[in-house]
Amino acid sequence: MAIQPKSYDVCIAGFGPVGAVLAALLGAQGRSVVVLERDQGPFPLPRAAHIDGETMRTFQALGIVEDVEPHVRPAPAYQFVSANADILIDVPAGEVGADGWFTHYMIYQPGIEKALRQRCAALPNVELRLGSRLSGLMDDGDGVTVTYNGPGGAEESLHAALLVGCDGASSLVRSLVNIELDDYGFDEPWLVLDVAVDDDSRVPAQCYQYCDPRRPVTYTPMGPGRNRWEFMILPHETPEAMMEEAAVARLLAPWGGLDGLHVERRAVYHFHGLIAREWRRGRVLLAGDSAHQMPPFAGQGMCSGIRDAANLAWKIAAALNGGPFDILLESYEQERAPHARGIVEMAIAAGRAVCTLDFDAARARDERARQDRLNGVAPPALQLPPLGKSPLLGSGHSAGQHFPQFIGPDGSRLDDVLGQGPWLIEHRGTGEPKVCVGQIGIDHPALAPFADDLSAWFDQNRASGAVLVRPDRVIFDTGTPGALWSAWTERVESPARHEVS
Ligand SMILES: Cc1cc2nc3c(=O)[nH]c(=O)nc-3n(C[C@H](O)[C@H](O)[C@H](O)COP(=O)(O)OP(=O)(O)OC[C@H]3O[C@@H](n4cnc5c(N)ncnc54)[C@H](O)[C@@H]3O)c2cc1C
Repeated sequence: MAIQPKSYDVCIAGFGPVGAVLAALLGAQGRSVVVLERDQGPFPLPRAAHIDGETMRTFQALGIVEDVEPHVRPAPAYQFVSANADILIDVPAGEVGADGWFTHYMIYQPGIEKALRQRCAALPNVELRLGSRLSGLMDDGDGVTVTYNGPGGAEESLHAALLVGCDGASSLVRSLVNIELDDYGFDEPWLVLDVAVDDDSRVPAQCYQYCDPRRPVTYTPMGPGRNRWEFMILPHETPEAMMEEAAVARLLAPWGGLDGLHVERRAVYHFHGLIAREWRRGRVLLAGDSAHQMPPFAGQGMCSGIRDAANLAWKIAAALNGGPFDILLESYEQERAPHARGIVEMAIAAGRAVCTLDFDAARARDERARQDRLNGVAPPALQLPPLGKSPLLGSGHSAGQHFPQFIGPDGSRLDDVLGQGPWLIEHRGTGEPKVCVGQIGIDHPALAPFADDLSAWFDQNRASGAVLVRPDRVIFDTGTPGALWSAWTERVESPARHEVS
């Protein structure tokens, strides 16, 4: 008798930051998860240096903020300067924003990945198979049989109700299900250096984008004691030559050369703008860099992938709990693809402005920026596009927005008090009977530290009855508690419930 392969709810291919967040979110919801990762350790080359407050909020939901904090610092001011050192754009240091965290942080990605990996390792229903390379898949309509080569090289297989390809830019999962990429035609080679600095006082304390057509350069402090330089490789240069020690020393000469600067990791990347034409094929889904890649000028590649994971995790859990399978899973691409596409386009627009090598074009760009500053035009804030429409979002004007995380006078945070969600927060005085276990009035003692902020939110949003917030902290809709709850249950059937006592 043939031995049946072991079966799981979800197989995740790839244990980068996106696969790890998805595994941790699903594992926390009690789903059985297996993660296949071809390498033993995290990716060794320099990558993300920035995350936003929404990402920190997801880390909070995972319970890893304490482990992440040593590797992040609130983002300092960010200036774009011309070849003549004129300030073109001056973005002030971030403040605490609507997610209850600073709007921007500089990070050391390996520290973050370590915290994520530890979280997954602590979850009994998440099985990590490191050194295991996915090699094939077969979707039989009820699930996916996945083949992979384990650490010894032998071919093995497993079965999962769903497979999520979090296997990065060169995703094999994406190729195996024949999903093509739309290419924005952006392709710029940059040398990226991660540098440990002996003495922080000898390097700038804020972020700079040097918009010099002789060589565009990005400089950012990352986590404490670590800094990032990125140098555009010019058309007459080769990546190999630019990786050499002498070239690196020459490039770092304006900051005092290699003395006291220790280049820990170096890599040449071609910055691209690509997006998958489909994010789901049957029982196979894509998330993170396998679904979208963008140049790092907006610092949003990993943030976008983590947003994918937050959007997808609760939908997978609801679908596997007997919810309307196709509606739930299709809503993932419906909501996330337009959002990611908007960010890819924004990052490319920033990249085209920064990567200008033509002197006349650079002068014209600088003059426009100078005029904007003189006329008091505010620097462009990172405006994230809205989520796309889906049946998992209502029609009210705040549906699809992130519900704010208020911080009480005692430092308590709304998400910690309310837990996973969904939440049905009722405005004081609606007098509706309680319709679900997750329903809570803003006069409930647990919400006392946030009552004023919540009240103000209801007033500003002209939301008189209640607001229903999904587990990914996105507003489903506002309305009367009864109508909201029946609309929600109709669409997800058996959502996770949470009661605050
Ligand atoms: C220079 C640079 C700067 C950046 N800066 C930022 C920034 O400031 N902010 C930001 O948000 N983003 C930034 N990014 C983007 C960010 O690093 C990526 O978006 C993010 O790492 C993608 O995560 P992921 O988990 O989707 O993919 P990856 O991190 O690529 O992980 C994919 C994983 O899948 C594994 N894998 C691949 N194939 C298989 C297989 N067949 N079987 C099993 N495992 C497999 C790989 O080994 C890898 O571990 C930057 C990127 C670069 C290059």
